[in-house]
Amino acid sequence: MRLPDYPPPLLTPFAGIFYDGVAQGELRLPVCPDCGAVYWYPPAILPCHPDTAPGWRAVSPQGVVYSFTRIERSLLPDADPASVPYTLVMVHPIDAPAARVIGVLADADDGPVQCGDIVRFQPARVKDHWIPAFVRDQGDPQPDDMPREAI
Ligand SMILES: [Zn+2]
Repeated sequence: MRLPDYPPPLLTPFAGIFYDGVAQGELRLPVCPDCGAVYWYPPAILPCHPDTAPGWRAVSPQGVVYSFTRIERSLLPDADPASVPYTLVMVHPIDAPAARVIGVLADADDGPVQCGDIVRFQPARVKDHWIPAFVRDQGDPQPDDMPREAI
């Protein structure tokens, strides 16, 4: 298993909520307190209720692979060459189908990934910090759960 050699995230108050959740194994996403819409990436203004400040909630750790890509060369100039290749997956949590969360597929060596695969949020430790990561889950595939519209 290879993992990207990312530097620690910049923990702004907003990003800190997300990364505190990652360190605790919990996927926390911004939510509209008025209607319950969940977003990722976080919008500066909630499209559903622009006058409302977003809250946060933990979503299901189980999700569906929406898309994926394999990274062959690191974008970082001083990255450890042994950190590539790795696979990134874009996942929509099963209870937040409009959100798209990107993470490393930590078990990419176990076989090819496909859109529609069921994965589970399982953060990976890189040096002294945690990064969002997923592993394949034994859950039932739910291809009909794939959202058809963009955020
Ligand atoms: Zn709303």
